[in-house]
Amino acid sequence: MTIFSKIIRGEIPSYKCAENDKFYAFLDINPLAQGHTLVVSKREVDYFFDLTDEELAEMIVFAKQVAAAIKQAFPCRKVGMAVLGLEVNHAHIHLVPLQSEGDMDFRKDKLKLSPEQMQQTAESISRAFAQ
Ligand code: 5GP
Repeated sequence: MTIFSKIIRGEIPSYKCAENDKFYAFLDINPLAQGHTLVVSKREVDYFFDLTDEELAEMIVFAKQVAAAIKQAFPCRKVGMAVLGLEVNHAHIHLVPLQSEGDMDFRKDKLKLSPEQMQQTAESISRAFAQ
Protein backbone atom coordinates (compact mmCIF):
# COMPACT_ATOMS: atom_id res chain seq x y z
CA MET A 1 0.00 0.00 0.00
CA THR A 2 1.30 3.51 -0.79
CA ILE A 3 1.80 6.26 1.77
CA PHE A 4 -1.06 8.14 0.11
CA SER A 5 -3.42 5.17 0.55
CA LYS A 6 -2.50 5.15 4.24
CA ILE A 7 -3.29 8.89 4.36
CA ILE A 8 -6.65 8.34 2.62
CA ARG A 9 -7.49 5.57 5.12
CA GLY A 10 -6.54 7.87 8.03
CA GLU A 11 -3.69 5.60 9.12
CA ILE A 12 -1.24 8.49 8.59
CA PRO A 13 -2.39 12.01 9.51
CA SER A 14 -2.85 14.68 6.85
CA TYR A 15 -4.11 18.23 6.53
CA LYS A 16 -7.29 17.44 4.64
CA CYS A 17 -8.73 20.08 2.31
CA ALA A 18 -11.52 18.23 0.48
CA GLU A 19 -12.81 14.78 -0.37
CA ASN A 20 -15.42 12.96 -2.41
CA ASP A 21 -16.03 9.26 -3.05
CA LYS A 22 -13.17 8.98 -5.56
CA PHE A 23 -10.60 11.65 -4.67
CA TYR A 24 -8.87 13.11 -1.60
CA ALA A 25 -7.19 16.52 -1.37
CA PHE A 26 -4.64 17.40 1.33
CA LEU A 27 -1.72 19.75 1.85
CA ASP A 28 1.68 18.80 0.50
CA ILE A 29 3.92 18.36 3.54
CA ASN A 30 6.73 20.26 1.75
CA PRO A 31 4.84 23.13 0.13
CA LEU A 32 6.17 25.24 -2.72
CA ALA A 33 3.72 27.95 -1.61
CA GLN A 34 1.13 28.28 1.11
CA GLY A 35 -1.89 26.33 -0.13
CA HIS A 36 0.09 23.76 -2.17
CA THR A 37 -2.38 20.88 -2.29
CA LEU A 38 -2.27 17.33 -3.62
CA VAL A 39 -5.32 15.73 -5.23
CA VAL A 40 -5.07 11.95 -5.06
CA SER A 41 -7.10 9.18 -6.64
CA LYS A 42 -8.54 6.88 -3.97
CA ARG A 43 -8.02 3.99 -6.36
CA GLU A 44 -4.37 3.10 -6.02
CA VAL A 45 -2.80 3.52 -9.44
CA ASP A 46 0.88 4.40 -9.90
CA TYR A 47 1.02 6.31 -13.18
CA PHE A 48 -1.43 9.20 -13.64
CA PHE A 49 -2.04 8.32 -17.28
CA ASP A 50 -2.96 4.75 -16.33
CA LEU A 51 -6.16 6.08 -14.75
CA THR A 52 -9.21 5.43 -16.93
CA ASP A 53 -10.49 8.19 -19.19
CA GLU A 54 -13.49 8.60 -16.89
CA GLU A 55 -11.32 8.79 -13.76
CA LEU A 56 -9.03 11.36 -15.39
CA ALA A 57 -11.98 13.52 -16.41
CA GLU A 58 -13.55 13.32 -12.95
CA MET A 59 -10.24 14.01 -11.24
CA ILE A 60 -9.68 17.18 -13.25
CA VAL A 61 -13.19 18.39 -12.42
CA PHE A 62 -12.56 17.71 -8.72
CA ALA A 63 -9.17 19.46 -8.96
CA LYS A 64 -10.93 22.43 -10.57
CA GLN A 65 -13.20 22.75 -7.54
CA VAL A 66 -10.25 22.45 -5.14
CA ALA A 67 -8.30 25.04 -7.19
CA ALA A 68 -11.21 27.48 -6.88
CA ALA A 69 -11.18 26.98 -3.10
CA ILE A 70 -7.38 27.50 -2.97
CA LYS A 71 -7.69 30.71 -5.02
CA GLN A 72 -10.43 32.02 -2.76
CA ALA A 73 -8.49 31.20 0.42
CA PHE A 74 -5.10 32.35 -0.90
CA PRO A 75 -5.58 35.00 -3.58
CA CYS A 76 -3.08 34.45 -6.39
CA ARG A 77 -2.74 35.12 -10.12
CA LYS A 78 -3.55 31.54 -11.05
CA VAL A 79 -3.49 28.10 -9.47
CA GLY A 80 -0.94 26.00 -11.32
CA MET A 81 -1.33 22.29 -11.88
CA ALA A 82 1.43 19.72 -12.27
CA VAL A 83 1.75 15.96 -12.39
CA LEU A 84 5.11 14.43 -11.46
CA GLY A 85 4.75 11.24 -9.47
CA LEU A 86 8.51 10.69 -9.27
CA GLU A 87 8.52 10.36 -5.48
CA VAL A 88 5.19 8.76 -4.58
CA ASN A 89 3.90 6.01 -6.89
CA HIS A 90 0.24 6.89 -6.48
CA ALA A 91 -1.48 9.08 -9.08
CA HIS A 92 -1.82 12.66 -7.84
CA ILE A 93 -2.04 16.26 -9.04
CA HIS A 94 -0.15 19.17 -7.48
CA LEU A 95 -2.14 22.42 -7.19
CA VAL A 96 0.06 25.44 -6.39
CA PRO A 97 -1.04 29.06 -5.91
CA LEU A 98 1.07 31.12 -8.33
CA GLN A 99 2.24 34.70 -8.24
CA SER A 100 5.06 34.03 -10.68
CA GLU A 101 6.49 31.22 -12.82
CA GLY A 102 9.15 30.46 -10.22
CA ASP A 103 6.49 29.40 -7.70
CA MET A 104 6.13 26.16 -9.67
CA ASP A 105 9.84 25.30 -9.59
CA PHE A 106 9.96 21.96 -7.77
CA ARG A 107 13.72 22.30 -7.23
CA LYS A 108 13.43 25.37 -5.04
CA ASP A 109 13.58 25.33 -1.23
CA LYS A 110 10.23 24.38 0.26
CA LEU A 111 8.31 26.53 2.73
CA LYS A 112 8.60 25.71 6.40
CA LEU A 113 5.16 26.13 7.94
CA SER A 114 4.33 25.24 11.53
CA PRO A 115 1.68 22.59 12.27
CA GLU A 116 -0.63 25.43 13.32
CA GLN A 117 -0.05 27.24 10.01
CA MET A 118 -0.65 24.02 8.06
CA GLN A 119 -3.85 23.38 10.02
CA GLN A 120 -5.10 26.93 9.37
CA THR A 121 -4.18 26.65 5.70
CA ALA A 122 -6.14 23.41 5.30
CA GLU A 123 -9.11 24.83 7.21
CA SER A 124 -9.19 27.93 4.98
CA ILE A 125 -9.24 25.80 1.82
CA SER A 126 -11.74 23.38 3.32
CA ARG A 127 -14.10 26.24 4.27
CA ALA A 128 -13.88 27.74 0.78
CA PHE A 129 -14.48 24.30 -0.78
CA ALA A 130 -17.63 23.81 1.27
CA GLN A 131 -19.19 27.09 0.07
P1 5GP B 1 5.90 13.52 -6.66
O1 5GP B 1 5.61 12.05 -6.45
O2 5GP B 1 4.75 14.24 -7.31
O3 5GP B 1 7.20 13.74 -7.36
O4 5GP B 1 6.09 14.17 -5.21
C1 5GP B 1 5.33 13.73 -4.11
C2 5GP B 1 4.91 14.90 -3.27
O5 5GP B 1 4.26 14.36 -2.12
C3 5GP B 1 6.06 15.78 -2.77
O6 5GP B 1 5.79 17.13 -3.08
C4 5GP B 1 6.08 15.52 -1.26
O7 5GP B 1 6.38 16.67 -0.51
C5 5GP B 1 4.70 15.02 -0.97
N1 5GP B 1 4.66 14.04 0.10
C6 5GP B 1 5.43 12.93 0.22
N2 5GP B 1 5.12 12.23 1.33
C7 5GP B 1 4.10 12.92 1.92
C8 5GP B 1 3.35 12.68 3.12
O8 5GP B 1 3.55 11.73 3.85
N3 5GP B 1 2.39 13.61 3.41
C9 5GP B 1 2.14 14.68 2.61
N4 5GP B 1 1.17 15.52 2.99
N5 5GP B 1 2.84 14.93 1.48
C10 5GP B 1 3.82 14.06 1.15
